Amino acid sequence: MAAESGLTHAKDGAMPDHLPVVVVGAGIAGLTLSLCLARAGVRVTVIDRARELREVGAGLQLSPNASSILFHLGLGSALDATGMRPEAVTIRDGASGRLILRMPLGEAMVERYGAPYIVIHRADLQGTLLAAVEQEPRVTLHLGVDITAIGEDEAGIVVEGVEADQPVRFHGSLLVGADGVRSMVREAVIGGGPAIYTGRTAWRTTFEAEGFFAQSFRHNETGLWLGRHAHLVHYAIDAGREINLVAAIDDVWNEDGWDVPGDPAQIRAAFAGWPEPVRKLVAMPESWRKWALCEAPRDTPWTKGRVVLIGDAVHGMPPFVAQGAAMAVEDARVLAGVLAAGLDDDIEDRLGAFADGRKARTDKVAAAARRNGVIYHLGGAPAKARNLGMRLLGADRLANNMDWIYGWRPVEG
Ligand SMILES: Cc1cc2nc3c(=O)[nH]c(=O)nc-3n(C[C@H](O)[C@H](O)[C@H](O)COP(=O)(O)OP(=O)(O)OC[C@H]3O[C@@H](n4cnc5c(N)ncnc54)[C@H](O)[C@@H]3O)c2cc1C
Repeated sequence: MAAESGLTHAKDGAMPDHLPVVVVGAGIAGLTLSLCLARAGVRVTVIDRARELREVGAGLQLSPNASSILFHLGLGSALDATGMRPEAVTIRDGASGRLILRMPLGEAMVERYGAPYIVIHRADLQGTLLAAVEQEPRVTLHLGVDITAIGEDEAGIVVEGVEADQPVRFHGSLLVGADGVRSMVREAVIGGGPAIYTGRTAWRTTFEAEGFFAQSFRHNETGLWLGRHAHLVHYAIDAGREINLVAAIDDVWNEDGWDVPGDPAQIRAAFAGWPEPVRKLVAMPESWRKWALCEAPRDTPWTKGRVVLIGDAVHGMPPFVAQGAAMAVEDARVLAGVLAAGLDDDIEDRLGAFADGRKARTDKVAAAARRNGVIYHLGGAPAKARNLGMRLLGADRLANNMDWIYGWRPVEG
């Protein structure tokens, strides 16, 4: 299995008998890490406060830098069974409705990067990772745990909490905080601050694809509409049975939660002045969920002693280069390589090197996401200049500009 995942076992395949690595958060980062570690011979205890990993959320995007890792883990056919490989992304102006640019994805991505661009429901991705993790005897999963304390004793890390009304204690050689953008590990252990609201709300919904394809939209393309104070993304998921619709709007609403109902009248009003296809599209779903788009504080330290953060917990960023899940998968894969090489005394130094390397990359990606956030929501003359600039750039050069993100691969050593 180690060869398939590309990870190497410590010391000739024999991992010393350390305490397990404790991972807080069975989201995308936590499950990917657990799977990579188990395949490399490391024992893992994963703890999540959710009582079940149920279907919350909507679609997310996995560019080739992430899909290549998941395919190497043997998850390719499962991802292809529920995810979609969009043929292209079409970018349109939300004021005029005119096409700005069409960039091929589909086969073009596979040819260029050796791995596909996939869009998938978050629950299908999490379910795929979970099913693989459940096959690994080295991973123990505890759901419904309310963590009450995290500390250290002479043997390592100690996590205390309550599971099914019973007190529980988990001992680990090391603790990984993979508990999302409102991370408790970041705030309580690392000393980072609370999540920072970006002034935008994401409205998300999925609905049956049938009526959607009766409209003028092409089958299996990702659509991106850019307009003043808002943008809209749509693509097919669930093997083409469902349409995922995401609208990001400038807002002041900032509450916790991934499952808060949004009033359809409010989102229709936000797109009232947009071209007819958008108005029709936004009117199709009966229900919406909304969540406040937050970032992790930019100065968050990644490590403290034998505690390390990954994923949104340390670099939660706006979703405007669609790299939230991809960065979580990258972090997990790189950290697994570091931990699989050994958990002995030099681990804190190696965690520091891991943090420096990953921070350089995720800072750059987050900066690109913030830049897009400004560019996407322009109106009037600046929007016209943006559209012209994108047309002049053209699909080929836009694709070249994405190489540094999509062409990334983990380096061993
Ligand atoms: C329920 C949910 C739905 C989402 N839906 C979408 C979506 O539709 N589209 C999209 O682009 N992104 C969505 N996201 C965000 C997306 O998954 C992340 O941006 C990205 O995948 C990075 O993943 P992550 O593993 O770092 O964090 P997450 O995927 O957010 O996972 C964090 C995990 O930590 C757990 N956790 C949080 N606090 C604690 C705690 N105190 N103790 C123990 N466990 C804890 C959470 O239950 C969750 O399982 C969603 C996140 C969640 C939690």
